[in-house]
Amino acid sequence: MNVISNHMPTAELQALDAAHHMHPFTDNAELAKTGARIITGADGVTLTDSEGHKILDAMSGLWCVNIGYGRKELADAAARQMMELPYYNTFFQTTHVPAIALSAKLAELAPRDLNHVFYAGSGSEANDTNIRLVRHYWAIKGQPEKNIIISRKNAYHGSTLGGGSLGGMSGMQTQGVPVIPGIHHIDQPDWWSEGGDMTPEAFGLERAKQLEAAILDLGVDRVAAFIAEPVQGAGGVIVPPSTYWPEIQRICDEHGILLIADEVICGFGRTGHWFGSEYYGIRPHIMTIAKGLSSGYAPIGGSIVCDEIAETVANGGDFNHGYTYSGHPVACAVALANLRILQEEKIIESVHDTIAPYLAQKWQALADHPLVGEAKIVGMMGSIAMTPHKESQAKFAADAGTVGMICRTRCFANGLVMRHVGDRMIIAPPLVISKAEIDTLIERATKALDETYELIK
Ligand code: PLP
Repeated sequence: MNVISNHMPTAELQALDAAHHMHPFTDNAELAKTGARIITGADGVTLTDSEGHKILDAMSGLWCVNIGYGRKELADAAARQMMELPYYNTFFQTTHVPAIALSAKLAELAPRDLNHVFYAGSGSEANDTNIRLVRHYWAIKGQPEKNIIISRKNAYHGSTLGGGSLGGMSGMQTQGVPVIPGIHHIDQPDWWSEGGDMTPEAFGLERAKQLEAAILDLGVDRVAAFIAEPVQGAGGVIVPPSTYWPEIQRICDEHGILLIADEVICGFGRTGHWFGSEYYGIRPHIMTIAKGLSSGYAPIGGSIVCDEIAETVANGGDFNHGYTYSGHPVACAVALANLRILQEEKIIESVHDTIAPYLAQKWQALADHPLVGEAKIVGMMGSIAMTPHKESQAKFAADAGTVGMICRTRCFANGLVMRHVGDRMIIAPPLVISKAEIDTLIERATKALDETYELIK
């Protein structure tokens, strides 16, 4: 067989891909007909495909390439670590310098007493860890029946059996069933889709109070934890009303329920703070991290755990849990280099003070477009909800995915990656995007919206 490389014709690569590669979250039979888009390189915020097209990546890959593409420092850190110690595990009383250094760094960056890191290879695995960790914690404290975890419909917490069960995506929960037991879902704070006649503030309170009702209904002595993303990402960048998080925090505090903030998307600068919890004033006991931790340059995730849980678990004997790649030295070294860049280049400060406000101003102006009902943004994650009738703010009915699919295709045709979730279009560009690149993003998004509007008229 010929060596498979970037130099092969696109059609040949697509045929090989279709023959042998099962893509995640994809209708693979459909893809076999159209052929996958092949990305061959990337620099800064721009992707190159096998046809030589330049595409502005307004999704940072899958919300992860926070420092942008092409940073040699991370490649150097990986190469150095591979030569020194490519692998060793952290099981059975063993450690290594990259894991020590990254853990100390994360303890320094994380708020309050979140000082202990349990590593995983991904966000999904980290959430699996969280399920076992909180249940084990309550068992050690003599309350093994306190094991139900409350989550939300339309949440995304990963794709493993645990992550998929925690998440509230019905499409995932109907495949490969049964999901794991002991997880209860309440409604999401999505005012645009579900707020009806309520004000956003009243709706936010009402949705938060569902947590209290669920705790009382299930029994305080049965509920271990509540898990949520500060801003739901994959669900469509659902920005909660201002009343939501303070009420959730009150309820968790009053009822002694552990709070897990899934920071896989919101962490590492996405909101203009190190963590989304800081943006909303949330005080979690555990934070799930991944993605921006290494800017996607190496697969790594983890749980940052507060002192009390870490100490309780440490005094509870062996925690019979871990992954071959927990604290992988190369991934830790890459993550450290990534955090160094975020800190030394003051990228989060720049997002907070300059870039996010600039993006917000441009993004919110899209609300004037005839196809757009609502434009929301927090830091560097934004969504627009499309409407078939702007005056009445009507929603697209049954096959809401169609308009999103059309718009997404128009985005690609105009050199822009935006994702669609139902009738929403969403962005989460690299944090290093410049003002000029934001202008290009908005220009291309507007053109894609114009073309979509014409196509569905
Ligand atoms: N949690 C959240 C909030 C996510 O957005 C994701 C992935 O998108 C995950 C968990 C799962 O992370 P991974 O894909 O690394 O397993």
